Amino acid sequence: MNSFVIPPEIHHSQDSLSYLENLEGEKAVLVTGGSSMKRFGFLDQAVELLEKAGIESKIIDGVEPNPSVKTVNKGKNLMLDFEPDWVIAIGGGSALDAAKIMWAFYEHPDLEFEEIIEVGSIPELRNKAKFIAIPSTSGTASEITAFSVITDLEKKIKYPIVSPEIVPDLAIVDPQIPATMPSHITANTGMDVMAHAVEAFVSTAATDYTDPLALKAIKLVFDYLPEAVADGDNLEAREKMHNASTLAGMAFSNASLGIVHSLAHKIGGEFHVTHGLANAILLPYVIDFNYQAAENKFKEIEEYLGINDLKAEVKNLNQKLDIKANFKEIDWLDYTEEDFEEVLARMSQNALEDPCTLTNPEEPEVEDLKEIYKKAYYGE
Ligand code: NDP
Ligand code: MN
Repeated sequence: MNSFVIPPEIHHSQDSLSYLENLEGEKAVLVTGGSSMKRFGFLDQAVELLEKAGIESKIIDGVEPNPSVKTVNKGKNLMLDFEPDWVIAIGGGSALDAAKIMWAFYEHPDLEFEEIIEVGSIPELRNKAKFIAIPSTSGTASEITAFSVITDLEKKIKYPIVSPEIVPDLAIVDPQIPATMPSHITANTGMDVMAHAVEAFVSTAATDYTDPLALKAIKLVFDYLPEAVADGDNLEAREKMHNASTLAGMAFSNASLGIVHSLAHKIGGEFHVTHGLANAILLPYVIDFNYQAAENKFKEIEEYLGINDLKAEVKNLNQKLDIKANFKEIDWLDYTEEDFEEVLARMSQNALEDPCTLTNPEEPEVEDLKEIYKKAYYGE
């Protein structure tokens, strides 16, 4: 049986943040990251809107990039004290992901982190509170997905938590919020969207329900990402990219991904290369590797876009966005060629075992993944 699960309500376009004014309830916690949402005034706006709705709010801030189990437990305890009937996450993927698991533990205080690692093992939620997600980056689509990525600092492992229970009840996709992202974050997270959409479209688990969403997202990224990066104040471009992220999220949350993500997860674990950037660099090489296995699907994308060569167009787009063509060219990266060769075998084996590899159109051997890493590292 195939299922398609997305949030029941998505409010989008400019000023959709003001939807908060319409909420019914008594208490809300607002979960957010470091300082960006406070600094740009969105947190205060949210508190005011909730006040208008007669809802008392409490802020849980300080969620770090790649949030930890410790942060999640801290949030859980604050929620248990305050007893909210709404959990509202506002920020990047990290804040949204952390809030999802804080919420699960608030609903089930005796639950341990170890007990939710297995796919689908989160028990029924929504007995105490409902969940709203307000993304401030246009990339991870955590506002849509059944995923949360939490890091166990002691074991040094990043765990993808998967459950339909953590698909938010309501997503607010307001383009004014990501409009404050600096251009390099816009570029990198935007290429994460491209990778989500392409991988979901050619995934072996793609369906008639996910395909149109992925296809439209690919087109929106090609058409609007360069403008969103060149002129951050262009709200039309910001809105199109914010929508593209959410559409791609609907697709990949239901169709899963492929080895761009497997490879990016593992190189991101070894070196400090951000997720979107790793995806951007890897995508052309993986399109090459997958092309024959999913030829009809790739041709469908090319036909829809009116182009001849998706791989070449993705490379052009990277160049336009000032994204390097290979890892070696990134001068600020904290590793050398020797470091790369040293971890190559381990990284390739781990990438093979990543869950995203299961739905890749071409079934890779570990040697194939090594080859792709090498090409993406040294350039072809
Ligand atoms: P983060 O949430 O990690 O945020 C990255 C940085 O961007 C932070 O310093 C943050 O600052 C800043 N920032 C966020 N929004 C704005 C804004 N509007 N203006 C200015 N600065 C801003 O980034 P991502 O959204 O890329 O999320 C990455 C996380 O998501 C990773 O942990 C990854 O593993 C996970 N992920 C989750 C998925 C899912 O389906 N749930 C899918 C893929 C990845 P500040 O902290 O001050 O707000
Ligand atoms: Mn991604």
